[in-house]
Amino acid sequence: MQTTIHPISGEELMAYFDGELPPARAMAVHEHLETCRECRNVAADLDAVSRQLSEWQVEAIRPELKLPEHIKRRRP
Ligand SMILES: [Zn+2]
Repeated sequence: MQTTIHPISGEELMAYFDGELPPARAMAVHEHLETCRECRNVAADLDAVSRQLSEWQVEAIRPELKLPEHIKRRRP
């Protein structure tokens, strides 16, 4: 019986997406992701979460974009 060994931890995957891994390590992660569907799934989840987080942050920082009433009513 063969057990798949994943040389990458969740923390390392997160560091990989944050660009915080040293290049050699990032390369190893990248190569493992290309061959391992399971870690790719984990990676996709992490990626989606961090994307949601950054979108949420952008949303929170973005100033109110609604035009004031008097400008909306003005005709060109
Ligand atoms: Zn794996």
